[in-house]
Amino acid sequence: MTTPVSYWVAGTARRGAESMPVTHPYDGSPVARAAVASEADVAEAVAAAHTVAEPLARTSAAQRSAALSHVARRLVERGEEVARLITAENGKPLRWARAEAGRAASVFRWAAEEARRFGGEWQRLDTDTQSPGGAAFVGRFPRGPVLGITPFNFPLNLVAHKVAPALAAGAPIIVKPAPATPLSALLLGELLAETELPPGAWSVVPVPNDRMPALVADPLLPVVSFTGSGPVGRSIQEAVPHKHVTLELGGNAAAVVCADWSTPEDLARAAERIAVFANYQAGQSCIAVQRVFADRSVADELTERVVERVAALATGDPREEKTEVGPLIDEDAARRVETWVEEAVGAGARVLTGGYRDGAEYAPTVLTGVPPAARIACEEVFGPVIAIGEVEGDAEAFDRVNDSRFGLQTGVFTHRSDTAFAAFTRLHVGGVVIGDVPSLRAEHVPYGGVKESGVGREGVSAAMADFTEPRVLAFPGM
Ligand code: NAD
Repeated sequence: MTTPVSYWVAGTARRGAESMPVTHPYDGSPVARAAVASEADVAEAVAAAHTVAEPLARTSAAQRSAALSHVARRLVERGEEVARLITAENGKPLRWARAEAGRAASVFRWAAEEARRFGGEWQRLDTDTQSPGGAAFVGRFPRGPVLGITPFNFPLNLVAHKVAPALAAGAPIIVKPAPATPLSALLLGELLAETELPPGAWSVVPVPNDRMPALVADPLLPVVSFTGSGPVGRSIQEAVPHKHVTLELGGNAAAVVCADWSTPEDLARAAERIAVFANYQAGQSCIAVQRVFADRSVADELTERVVERVAALATGDPREEKTEVGPLIDEDAARRVETWVEEAVGAGARVLTGGYRDGAEYAPTVLTGVPPAARIACEEVFGPVIAIGEVEGDAEAFDRVNDSRFGLQTGVFTHRSDTAFAAFTRLHVGGVVIGDVPSLRAEHVPYGGVKESGVGREGVSAAMADFTEPRVLAFPGM
């Protein structure tokens, strides 16, 4: 039996008595075993984070920035190995795994820069006749150790989005990776262990889900940064209402194609982007295109082009360079998608391409005529399925986008600045992308959703603000 991959407690590699298998989602072949963190080791990681919190906050920005730069450099140097590990544990095609490894390096690079910029601001105290005069300095101090909980779909980059800003802001962090995909987070631990960050500043601990409520409730961890599904996120918020909780949850992102996006070149571009970004990572992205609302004047041609491109997507083994769409994370996930498509078809939807399953693979699928109440339209499908429909003008399109419990991002294909501005002001989402699909996350730009898509924002600077709280130093009358 292979030796389990170690976990990390306060910067040192450990192995407990238990381990869990990590299997390749494409063919079920064994990838590795990951050691499961023992209760004693998790307790030690928490105690060490608590102990180091004050000293870490006082380390120099230069020291923290150097550590983060080192990790960024090493992620680039070991990029191909990292990408292959992501593909092995998650099943995403190599091209997307390479993109993820590059993005994680970028997150660390940004955090290294922001660590040096992160300061505070002066505010005047002489603004009204009755004001005391003088000025106040508003600084930011870490709230305390962060518990970062991450999902399977970006097993490295979503860990990076918690670890890098926490360390940049001087906050210790304990990462709990997703059970199916712990390996790239554990490899990140190897790179962090090469730095001179003080022991306790970071730990990476695979912990079974049934032990998570106790860890979430631990009073020594005042901040919980969660990315994952709505039910788990909301259960955390309800369990620890006194803690600072950030939730990055699901979505059912839409792309709107407006009447002015009508030339053959326009429609070819929209179809290409929609087809690719509905199916990248087999649709397992919270901002994958799920719903398409096309103006009646362009809908037929757009649909024809989308179907043609989706049908031509190269599916199969994610380790092969040509593959564009791989398996879902497991067969249960593919079965759920199958059930939802069958339900929509039973309620009147038509399958234009795809609509079948083979093990953990679900064929890239385009549906039309999906009733708004079908789960394919109103839940998060997290699979390679597009529901495409016609609308009469932008106002109806925006209403249909807003008719959702979620509100993460929307893509609006238009050339018109007034339409772009109307979308920006009317859509109830965390971000609007003009001339492209909703599937855009820039590592330094605030990212997150409204309604059931979440609470708070990530993005390096936004997360640093989130992990810290303001403290005022006032000089009245000076
Ligand atoms: P999940 O909710 O099943 O698991 C997420 C993490 O929570 C895992 O590490 C899991 O082990 C842990 N967990 C499970 N039970 C827990 C409990 N009781 N207490 C604390 N932690 C617990 O999600 P998933 O299936 O891994 O990921 C898919 C979901 O993540 C989708 O809904 C997707 O939209 C969402 N997601 C959101 C964003 C975003 O930024 N908004 C990004 C990526 C993924």
